Amino acid sequence: MIFKQSLKKLLRHFIPRKDFSSQPIMFFNSKCNGRCIFCLAENVVSMSKKEINIVLNSGYDEISILGGEPLLCKELEDRVRQIKEKGVKKVHVFTNGLLLSKERLDSLMEAGVTSFNFNFPAHTPKEHEIMSGLPGNLPRQTENIRRACLKSKNAATLVCVVTTVNYKLLQDYVIYATENFPGLFYILFIFVKVSGRVNNNKWLLPNLTDTSREMLKALKTAKEKGITCLIDGMPLCFLPGWEAYSWDIDNKLGGKINYTGINADLEVCRHCELSDICVGPRKDYVEMYGDKEFKPAHADKEEIIRLVKRGQVNLNTKN
Ligand code: SF4
Repeated sequence: MIFKQSLKKLLRHFIPRKDFSSQPIMFFNSKCNGRCIFCLAENVVSMSKKEINIVLNSGYDEISILGGEPLLCKELEDRVRQIKEKGVKKVHVFTNGLLLSKERLDSLMEAGVTSFNFNFPAHTPKEHEIMSGLPGNLPRQTENIRRACLKSKNAATLVCVVTTVNYKLLQDYVIYATENFPGLFYILFIFVKVSGRVNNNKWLLPNLTDTSREMLKALKTAKEKGITCLIDGMPLCFLPGWEAYSWDIDNKLGGKINYTGINADLEVCRHCELSDICVGPRKDYVEMYGDKEFKPAHADKEEIIRLVKRGQVNLNTKN
């Protein structure tokens, strides 16, 4: 799944690094109209012309456009056309969606945008306001996401960063998404990382045991509803029975991300049946909560790998 690789590289961008141009991602502006308290991209700067040209001429099949908020870029449609003229098949825009009016949705899709990945942190007004840092925007965001869903099947994905503010609401979030966003492609839950603004808001980091309990309920509901939820950043011992929904597995399988320096080296992981396919615990988490919650996992590793390779975004689709 090429898009998945593109998104993985996107997430990798938030791991400190120097070179923008070696990945299929672009930034045309660093400003944002949101104030998310969990923002990982706080100090992102726009790419230089030279970096943009390197990405454009790298022969990627798919490119993701990030920000800041990409919709603040007035020339975004021209940029998308420029990307498409280079033969790029799919263009994904990562946005909070607040500026995605009907006219902007139409013009961006006509220019060649394939999908919108909406940062949608909560479905309830209070939690939405705390997470996004902006009061009163839930109705507008919901309306704009819904419009994108109705415009084209699989044109919208939800990205939800899981924190102490919203982790108890994950099951209801899934129900809300299925009721309000018909045609939604899938939901990606990202366990919050101590990076960007979270460095000043470490209270946002929930413990994995409590989050796992809520996440498993959400996963079960999502399966019943026929919408796929994938999870980034939760070690496999916290997803018993649902390991194949871990977004991280094929990073590990393919050796695509070097987690040295980011993840903790725990003794318990050396005795775990899934250590070959689990990215393990992050250091920032272990520094905050210790290692007591981690237990060796027991599961059919080959079956998990088979399900992952078959295509994770289709894990819950009914047909
Ligand atoms: S014990 Fe370690 S390797 Fe095993 S599932 Fe948990 S975090 Fe992953």
